[in-house]
Parts: sequence; C-alpha cells; structure tokens
Amino acid sequence: MGKGFFEVPVAVNEPVRSYAPGSPERKEVSETYKKMYHSTVDVPLYINGQDIKTGDTGTMAPPHDHKHILGTYHKADLGLVKKAIETALDARKSWAATPWEQRAAIFLRAAELIAGPYRAKINAATMLAQSKTIHQAEIDAACELIDFLRFNVQFMLEIYAEQPESTSDAWNRLEYRPLEGFVYAITPFNFTAIAGNLPASAALLGNVVVWKPSDSQVYSAKVILDVFREAGVPPGVINMVMGDPVMITDTILASPDFSGIHFTGSTHVFKDIWQKIGTNIHHYKTYPRIVGETGGKDFIVAHHTSNPKQVATAIARGAFEFQGQKCSAASRCYIPKSLWPQVEKFLKEDLASFKMGSPEDMGNFITAVIHEGSFNKLASYIDQAKKDPQAEIVAGGGYDKSKGYFIEPTVIKTEDPQYATMCTELFGPVVTIYVYEDSHWEETLKLVDSTSEYALTGAVFSEDRYALEIAVRALENAAGNFYINDKPTGAVVGQQPFGGARASGTNDKAGSKLNLYRWLSPRMVKETFVSPTDYRYPFLGN
Ligand code: NAD
Repeated sequence: MGKGFFEVPVAVNEPVRSYAPGSPERKEVSETYKKMYHSTVDVPLYINGQDIKTGDTGTMAPPHDHKHILGTYHKADLGLVKKAIETALDARKSWAATPWEQRAAIFLRAAELIAGPYRAKINAATMLAQSKTIHQAEIDAACELIDFLRFNVQFMLEIYAEQPESTSDAWNRLEYRPLEGFVYAITPFNFTAIAGNLPASAALLGNVVVWKPSDSQVYSAKVILDVFREAGVPPGVINMVMGDPVMITDTILASPDFSGIHFTGSTHVFKDIWQKIGTNIHHYKTYPRIVGETGGKDFIVAHHTSNPKQVATAIARGAFEFQGQKCSAASRCYIPKSLWPQVEKFLKEDLASFKMGSPEDMGNFITAVIHEGSFNKLASYIDQAKKDPQAEIVAGGGYDKSKGYFIEPTVIKTEDPQYATMCTELFGPVVTIYVYEDSHWEETLKLVDSTSEYALTGAVFSEDRYALEIAVRALENAAGNFYINDKPTGAVVGQQPFGGARASGTNDKAGSKLNLYRWLSPRMVKETFVSPTDYRYPFLGN
C-alpha cells in the first residue's frame, strides 16, 4: 500500500434470514436444494488454478438419504500432493508481494458473493452434505463464513496499524510478513464456515495454502472453492487436495517449507500431527506455527436458583441442534435435585415435539448424523447405557440407519458423575445428566472442572450473583468460551472469539485478531536518518 492509508468497509455481522414459510429465501433455497439433489457433481482436485481428475474417486451422499448419490470427488496421489506444495511455493513469490488492498478486495468480494448469488447454493450444499437444517446452514455456511471474511479484513488492518514508537532521527516500522513457506489447512466436516476460514484467513495475510477438506464435506467445500475462484484468488494461492488424510499429511509435514498448520478436528488427530511435526523439526526451514481447535465435552451446570424452563431450553438447543455435532454442544449437565423434576418435564416436552427427518422438510429440527461410523459409535453407547445399572435412558434411545443415519435425541441420566458418557466426546445427539444435592454447589463445580480432559465451552445458570461468582472463579480453566445463563453454542464472529484450552486446542480464537497473528512473521525495520561516523561515546572522554 504505497499511495494512501485506505480504510476498509466497517465489518458488520451478516443478518440471519428467517426462512419462515412464504419467505422468498425459503422458496429459493428449496428450489436450489431440489435442483442439486437431482443432479450430480464430479469434484476435481484444485492445484495451481487447474482442475485435476485422477480417476481414483470417492462418492458423496446426503447423511439423511445415504443411498442417493450426489456425485464423486477425486483423490490425490503422492505426486499431486507434492505438486500442490510446489505450486503454492511458486505462487508465494507474487502473492506475498501483493499489496494488502488487493488481497482484502478478493476476500471482501468472496463475502459478497456468498451473501448474494451463492447464498442459496452454499446453504443447500450444506443441507445436503452435512444434513443441516436451513437455519443451521444459514448461520454457518452463509452468515459465519461471510463474517469471518469481512471481520478478518478489518482485523488485518488493525494489526497492520500496530506500530512501534519512533524518534526524530530513527523511524521504526513493523512489517507484518506472511510466513516463509506454505500453510497446511485441515478442516472438519461440521462447519462449512470453518472449511472456508482456515485456508482463507492465512491466505488473506499473504500466505499460500494447501487445503485438505474432510471427505464428508467435499460437496460444500467445492462451493467455497468456486466462490474463491470467482472472487479472484490467484492460481496456486489456495490449493485443494482430497484423499488419504495420513498420506497427504505425512507428505506435507515432510516438506522443509512447511511453515504452519491450521487445523480443526478431533483431539487425537491433532495430537498425532503435533507429534509428527516434532519428529520432523530438524528438517524445517522455520519453526512451524501449530494452531488446532479440537474436541470438547461441554457442560451446563445449573444452580438451584436458576429458572428450570431456561435450563431445559438451553439443553434442548445446546445439546441437540445439528444433532449435537458442534464442538460446543452441551453433552454433560449438572442439575440440582430440587430442579430436576421440572427440567426433566420441560425437556421431555421439547423432545416430544422435535420432528426428525430430511432437512428438505423445514419442519424438522433434527436430521441425520454425518456418517455410518458416527452412527454406529452413538448406537453402541446408547445400547451400553441401556444395559448399565448406573445409567437410565430418560428420553430417546432409538436409532435407524435404513434410509439415513438417524439417532433419536437421547437423554441419559446417571448416578455416576464419571460415567463414560459424562467424560467422552460422542459428537452426537446424546446428553447425559447428573443430578446433585442442592447444597453441593462448590463440590459440583470441582467435579465439572475435573471430569474431562477438554476445556472448550460451558454454561452456568443461576439467579444468585454470589453463586455465579463462585462458578466463574471455580471454572476459570474449564472452558475457553464460558456462558452465563445461556446455552454454550452459537459463538458469533467479532462478538465471541472462539476456542478452547486443555485438550480442546491451542485456543487461538477463530474470529479474532489473535488467530491472525499466528499467520504473520513480523519484520522490524529501523531506519536511521543520519548514521554516526565516530564509534566513540562521550563517556570515553577525549
Ligand atoms: P476428524 O478429526 O475426523 O477430521 C478432521 C480433519 O482431519 C478431516 O479433514 C480429516 O480428513 C482429517 N484427518 C482425519 N484423520 C487424520 C489423520 N490421521 N491425519 C491427518 N488428518 C486426518 O474430525 P471431524 O469428525 O471432521 O470433526 C469433528 C471433530 O472436530 C470433533 O472432535 C469436534 O469437537 C472438532 N471440532 C472442533 C472445533 C473447535 O473449534 N474446537 C470446531 C469444529 C469441530
């Protein structure tokens, strides 16, 4: 930026559309869904601006209708992964030197493309690929991705404006260089917005990226890629490869030019990757940045002064929206004995009113879980709970995978606060309740803090300020995103920066400046206007 201190449009959160019956947006997305459902796509790899088809393919199907084929995607072999790395490094020469306003314009344009012409398509793709209801698709694929793109541009400018002091004889300038090398983005199935943000945030700051989407999200990832292309991301800057995750990852981590990983997914995968990076450390030209947001065992803890209807609603939404497949989904709840009968009644009423089925029918609140592996795992935990004397199924407990991977929203009540489903991340529509004695508030908070290896999200409900204050302190390290009298899901970019600590990740807070700093390697430039010509200082005397 040599010819002006440009300002960028002020970032505002994209308004969430209602999709109420009769609304134009509902009509448009329904028609788009139908059209996409009745056609097939063939998703190539995308390397150096080229579509590459290898013939080694996987199939894509909606989780709620798994016999229906939506299309195929192509898988990379080792040679193509290496090619993706080489072309990214080639592209870096021009991209890293491109003025920020050009980079900003591309990603702001991407945001507007999603807000307008691509909105119905990216939402319908997310409904089909990940079985999200229209509301869940809208807040993710449309609004959150738009917000990431807009706010990150603003955050980039705020960072660039952070400059050191200077004096009259020396000017200090901090240049926010991209990392030297390339960034590897690995994205999960559950958020289209995360799939777009992990490569885009690094690329916005001048980095080049090799992006590996989840096999279960390739269908909507292709729409993101089409948006990036139309918005003008130059060839080689973001390359998309699919295929064997271990082969792709091992090939990338073996490159001496690997300079950072932007990961979201499960904890054990991230820990394995971290270990591999450690093993390769002597081969790298630079210390790689390691950013990973991973699993959670997110809690709701209610005090006896809380409102039972509010607590039940927080569980109904927080545990079951998107079938509990949000990293932030409530999956363990601590309810006082005096409140449980009412919470149970309201929760059962809510569950009885949930409709389950295809997201195409917009009356459905619950749809299918992502794939057969997840379905089988959830079914086995439910079966085990049916057998275990210390567990009781209070609601739900049914499942059926004949047409789609449907698991009934399930509430387990346990007398053992260390019961398997109180500790293990299941990633599905299953919540476990532990009922505690009203007088054991502080002991219960200790239990909440110590039960799980994770620390992603958590919520406390109380009408008593002192009880709240005790909880805020006792649970200081139990969640990276902590909610008071609210459900633990639904973080909004620019409002609630998101991420957890302990086993939940590096807590680099997606949707904030903190994340963007990780993709920068500042260079300090000091320019002295009149350089000294005598080495002697006054203290040396004559
Ligand atoms: P996953 O770990 O199965 O997959 C994530 C990505 O890693 C995918 O692209 C996958 O192909 C790849 N992968 C899988 N095995 C790999 C391996 N051995 N080596 C390299 N890459 C590998 O996770 P998922 O099922 O897609 O997503 C759900 C998980 O993500 C949950 O644990 C959830 O809590 C977590 N998540 C966390 C956040 C957060 O912000 N903390 C957000 C979303 C999801």
